[in-house]
Amino acid sequence: MPPLPKKKHSKKRKGGRNAHNGMKKVTFSKCAEPGCDSMVIPHRACTKCGKYAGREVVTNEETQSGV
Ligand SMILES: [Zn+2]
Repeated sequence: MPPLPKKKHSKKRKGGRNAHNGMKKVTFSKCAEPGCDSMVIPHRACTKCGKYAGREVVTNEETQSGV
């Protein structure tokens, strides 16, 4: 026989524990590159032009392969 909990945990206890597990809304900002008006996730490279903070960090071949 494995060790078993003596009492059933209350709904409050379960709800309080799971209060931190909610999902957050994904926020977007506009790409800073002039001429590129796609929405990007903050602190990520743009998926359209592959640039981050004005530098090209993802080359065109990599963006076309879809990785
Ligand atoms: Zn862009």
